[in-house]
Amino acid sequence: MNQEAARDLDAAWRRVVSTGAFIGGAHVDRFEEQWADYCGRRWAVGVANGTQALELTLRALGIGQGDEVILPANTFVATAEAVALAGATPLFVDVAPETLLVTPAIVEAAVTPRSAAVIVVHLYGQIPDMNGLGQVAGKASLALIEDAAQAHGATWKRRKAGSFGHAGCFSFYPTKNLGAFGDAGAVVTNDGELARRVRSLGDHGRSAASRDLHEHIGTNSRLDALQAAVLSAKLPLLDRWVEARRRALAAYNRLLKGSGVRLVKGEQSAASACHLNVIRTRARDRVRAALEAKRIRTGVHYPVPCHLQDPYRAFYREPLPVAERSASEVLSLPLFPHITTDQIRHVCRNLRQIVDDEVLSHVR
Ligand SMILES: *Cc1c(COP(=O)(O)O)cnc(C)c1O
Repeated sequence: MNQEAARDLDAAWRRVVSTGAFIGGAHVDRFEEQWADYCGRRWAVGVANGTQALELTLRALGIGQGDEVILPANTFVATAEAVALAGATPLFVDVAPETLLVTPAIVEAAVTPRSAAVIVVHLYGQIPDMNGLGQVAGKASLALIEDAAQAHGATWKRRKAGSFGHAGCFSFYPTKNLGAFGDAGAVVTNDGELARRVRSLGDHGRSAASRDLHEHIGTNSRLDALQAAVLSAKLPLLDRWVEARRRALAAYNRLLKGSGVRLVKGEQSAASACHLNVIRTRARDRVRAALEAKRIRTGVHYPVPCHLQDPYRAFYREPLPVAERSASEVLSLPLFPHITTDQIRHVCRNLRQIVDDEVLSHVR
């Protein structure tokens, strides 16, 4: 992937080095404009990483102590971390069994008088019913925040991930669909005041009027110019990479038909960013070990749901059966834009064999 953009990347790095503006400056401004434009939003604010994109968004919305934030339990821990770091209370909810995403009904049932926001996570690159979620959030006066860290380029009814909520939060961690050469993140929004506050919070709470006046207790969370230049150089290739991921996932689907392996399905109206290729199987750990023995490297996203992670015990309320069961079943198969059809065939052939052997060993 990086080779494809190599010439542009080299030139971009050299330009940053020659200007000497490493934090902020023209490269950051340019990427922010490009990213807002790509997402169909008015503003993008670069921050240091995806976790802080979420945390600073919550803080900029005035959400903290005494407020509840509704979020799915089956997400990367960073979503929950951001809520706790903002001083709010994470209210973990379960997800739909087929999509592993929240639904409007699930969120609606969870709302209490203290609920201030809902974070919708576009897990694996899939976007849930955003109309329904927008209505529920509106009715309950919740801020709607998208954790779009896995969904660069995903659409729902032709609208891009990040364009539905009060704010969309992105990570550009190197393995994401659009990855920097280190940590980076961004918040996109149509709300100019929210954008201004996120920017100020990430820049030591500086006031717009003077660099020496600080209007909030902020933090240091800025996008640096080298990362911005890398992201600008790679952005023109993003749609092509997402298309390649979609084609690869379609090939997996075809080759695994009738194999007894269940694929995680998205919403009808959504076009997934195909960040991860997740299947579900009962004997996940044995299947995973057998694939590893064939030198096929897989991942698990995620083996322990957030509500069962130690530091979040204080926020535990009830069992969340779908999140808990799926945590022991999900397995992420190799997926990257340049994966070849032969590589996909190789994985599927081995996976079918392993699953068949697994079934036989249970019959015996
Ligand atoms: C990667 C990720 C994050 C955190 O992003 P960082 O840049 O690593 O801080 C948050 N939420 C989800 C769903 C992620 O996948």
